Amino acid sequence: MALSGLDIYKLLPKTNCKECGFPTCLAFAMQIAAKKVELSKCPYVSEEAKQALESASRPPIKLVTIGTGEAKLEIGNETVMFRHEQTFYHPAGIAVLVEDTEDASRIDERINKINKLHFERVGQQIGVNLIALRCSSGKKETFTELVKKIRLRSVTESLNLILMSEDAEIIKAAASLCKDRKPLLYAATKDNLDAMVAIAKENSLPLAIKAESLDELSELAQKAVSAGVEDLILDSGNKDISGKISDLTQIRRLALKKTYRPFGYPTIALSSAGETYQEITEAASYIAKYAGIVVIKGVEPWEVLPLLTLRQNIYTDPQKPLQVEPKIYEIGQVTDKSPVLVTTNFSLTYYTVEAEVEGSRVPCYIISSYAEGLSVLTAWAAEKFTAETITKSLNECGIKDKVSHKEIIIPGYVAVLSGKLEEESGWKVRVGPKEASGLPSFLKSLNK
Ligand code: SF4
Repeated sequence: MALSGLDIYKLLPKTNCKECGFPTCLAFAMQIAAKKVELSKCPYVSEEAKQALESASRPPIKLVTIGTGEAKLEIGNETVMFRHEQTFYHPAGIAVLVEDTEDASRIDERINKINKLHFERVGQQIGVNLIALRCSSGKKETFTELVKKIRLRSVTESLNLILMSEDAEIIKAAASLCKDRKPLLYAATKDNLDAMVAIAKENSLPLAIKAESLDELSELAQKAVSAGVEDLILDSGNKDISGKISDLTQIRRLALKKTYRPFGYPTIALSSAGETYQEITEAASYIAKYAGIVVIKGVEPWEVLPLLTLRQNIYTDPQKPLQVEPKIYEIGQVTDKSPVLVTTNFSLTYYTVEAEVEGSRVPCYIISSYAEGLSVLTAWAAEKFTAETITKSLNECGIKDKVSHKEIIIPGYVAVLSGKLEEESGWKVRVGPKEASGLPSFLKSLNK
């Protein structure tokens, strides 16, 4: 929790000696609270005060990184319980399980499918983040063979790794094969804590702590931190869905509301459901509340895409709708005779229109008119998508240099704008369908 200027003042020497460059200790404290000056400017600050200030400036949930390079996964550093309070910053990682007891062809098939679990949605790339390699055989050789196989598959470089075994010897051998990829070690328990901590420390790797109760989890996390492991991921063990959500919520609440340091780390939740549809429901619940990583077994696009979509929606700033750049978009081989459509710059609206225009195979221009990222009807009701704003877009986007006609197609929902828009812009207005799904037949009918 951030300290106020007054809290910081109480920790200073209060001699007003001015050596820090400020007239009083209080003035200096106010500048520290505003993050405009470093504490080190005061040569007389005590060790105790330094520690208190350093601890107060730490985020309530630590940011933990798994992996390296562009594909690395950063989780944690969240500051609120509810998305409407501010926003959630670091999307939960989605991991797909591969077990070393599966036969080689099935492992290959799963890896091939996992590598394809990347999609484009409303202009953003979304996909799974990790492969969770589980040693279910209990054999070091079998598990390390699996790790080697994954290493050889260059395409999986875009996915981060979780090494799963509670046998420290097996984890040690596996980590030595891929420590450059900064995998997550899963998991330290009450039975293997010292050995797992030693491996994590020696290789500077993040470590998952697993316990069967929150009390035990807190105790193990404190021991790991005292032993020098800084990047922890917390697992409250095997529970039914409601028990797990309760644990995840309590961990988050204690970290944020009580600044309870042993729980100031991201969490991991493994799905336990046997049926696929149950797994999707379970994983969706964990993504919503408040897992940092969710491990699933499903590898089919229809299983994973709903989770990715949910995650994308939850981790979007509710105060900033997803927007596309307001400009002209050319779909297909456009000419100076191609139809011109206008819509708002709300991503979901724009990409829905774009998909339907592409599907129609009628080359078109789409003008995305700036409307603060609102959808068509909302923008119209808020007077952000009006005859005046559309005319401004027409005048400024350069469409007049691209087409030899002056006809614009507006969404059916704002047909009421037609007359005023014709007056304002001098363009002929044609009213399109209300729903984007009506565009293909509408566009094809223009050429008849
Ligand atoms: Fe106070 Fe330290 Fe600044 Fe002196 S140098 S005025 S003791 S804050």
